[in-house]
Amino acid sequence: MRVKFINIYIENMRQINLIVLHCSATRCDRCYTEHDLTTDHIRRGFSEAGYHYYIRRNGDIKTLRSVEKAGAHVRGYNAHSIGICYEGGLDEQGKPADTRTPFQKHSLRVLVKLLLRDYPGSRVCGHRDLSPDRNHDGEVEPEEWVKQCPCFDAAEILSEAVPEMPGYR
Ligand SMILES: [Zn+2]
Repeated sequence: MRVKFINIYIENMRQINLIVLHCSATRCDRCYTEHDLTTDHIRRGFSEAGYHYYIRRNGDIKTLRSVEKAGAHVRGYNAHSIGICYEGGLDEQGKPADTRTPFQKHSLRVLVKLLLRDYPGSRVCGHRDLSPDRNHDGEVEPEEWVKQCPCFDAAEILSEAVPEMPGYR
């Protein structure tokens, strides 16, 4: 019985080989809750939020969709990926910018590290890195980015220096 249960579990679990980071493309001085995000995605015709995880400005990690279910966050790559979104990505003027707070940097790092433990060998990248490689040189250059999301180099987050302990100074 036990073996059978494990088999069913493995059959139901999709294969993950990609972790994609996004921003909510909302202003860093505005509050955009996980409820706002879910409501917006439902309005766009999804059954729930398209991302699996959402990281609020205070560092809170909200699970919005079960990892077992494919997300709806990046065209052509949803089947085998996990989508993580951070609150922000636009500065006070509404221009694309890396607006991650120290809390968000910290939580993002923790979450990505844990997901890599569950899905070893997965590639970590930003939404913009999955833009079409128009000149077909094997690399997606900045001028090829369809959008700026998430406004930082996602591949760097694990090699960056450990972020300073946020807050409590
Ligand atoms: Zn995105």
